[in-house]
Amino acid sequence: MNPKKTTNEVYLGLEQGPIRPPNEARSLLVRVTRNCPWNRCTFCPVYKQEKFSVRPAEHVIRDIDLIHQNVERVRELVDESGRVTRSAIERVSGTIEPNEWEAFSAAVDWVISGDMRSVFLQDADSLVMKPAELVDVLTHLKTRFPTIRRITSYARAKTIARRKERDLRAVHEAGLDRIHVGLESGSDQVLAVVDKGSTKAIHLEAGLKVKRVGMELSEYVMPGLGGRDLSTVHAVETADALNQIGPDFIRIRTLAIPPRAPLYERWQSGDFEKCSDVMVAEELRLFIEKLDGITSVVKSDHILNLFMEVEGKLPDDKERMLNVLKTFLAMDPTEQRSYQVGRRLGVFHRLGDLKNDRKAEIVERTCRELGVTSENVDQITDQLMMRFV
Ligand code: SF4
Repeated sequence: MNPKKTTNEVYLGLEQGPIRPPNEARSLLVRVTRNCPWNRCTFCPVYKQEKFSVRPAEHVIRDIDLIHQNVERVRELVDESGRVTRSAIERVSGTIEPNEWEAFSAAVDWVISGDMRSVFLQDADSLVMKPAELVDVLTHLKTRFPTIRRITSYARAKTIARRKERDLRAVHEAGLDRIHVGLESGSDQVLAVVDKGSTKAIHLEAGLKVKRVGMELSEYVMPGLGGRDLSTVHAVETADALNQIGPDFIRIRTLAIPPRAPLYERWQSGDFEKCSDVMVAEELRLFIEKLDGITSVVKSDHILNLFMEVEGKLPDDKERMLNVLKTFLAMDPTEQRSYQVGRRLGVFHRLGDLKNDRKAEIVERTCRELGVTSENVDQITDQLMMRFV
């Protein structure tokens, strides 16, 4: 799909997109494009019914001004403890126009969630915006809010690969500090099967270019994406791609398949064989084992991940991360089942929680109520995971 710029658009007030990375929860969200220009990845349900467009830069700049105006308003409401109380908001609510509530609430969130230091540009591929326009947006953001220390965004590898290095550098110099790329897999086979619209070579070109211009790079990987057939090649090739790129961050986000994703039908028809949690743990073990010669930080901050403990800085924390996976893989099936259910209920956060009697009792009770066994545990945890996708 070719990116299309919407013309003659009327400004209708602040726009916010549907998603952001988990670690951008405290960031101000600024929408520069709408939806995804590719929209074909079979595992991704997010923008499937939506059409892509680039927002006019002047509209984004008006959003920024609107937020600035509301941030000033909110700052006057902050009490001595640094909070904005409900009664303070109610006091000014009569002065807020109906079409300004979104900007006011974005300003409240940004002011009370921290120190107005981080911004995330939405939606799926901000670098589609012309570099000169993106530079204008970034410059305006930094001028309006001198408190900003970090601006990040999602971008597709193919878009980055197409951008001239000097344009990317200009965007970085104007303020874009970090790019999040959905690598998902380094295996060309897996990338083709899920219609990622990218190849390992494109990912390498894009990742290395981002690094060369001095931007931070965060690469998302998706354990389980190759299914049972491609699990091994997925782990090995993904690690190899990352070893060549050396990103600042490797972020793990395990595959979950909601009914809205095209892959769901293939899964239900038996055409795609989804890995069990134990298989994903084995795949993850192989993946971590193959990471070599890089100093990336591995993050596991997504709610869909079974192992939040598989986090740390390479190479120092590699053995510790591997030990978490080896410990799980060495457990008997009943213990593995308890951990899977406990984690997906949000009761367990680490393997050591299995030894917490109070938590373990809650999990066992739920297993009895739901009739969870070692045989049906993946089926049940798949349903539990649907709450998060
Ligand atoms: S590029 Fe990203 S947002 Fe677009 S379809 Fe693929 S995973 Fe979804």
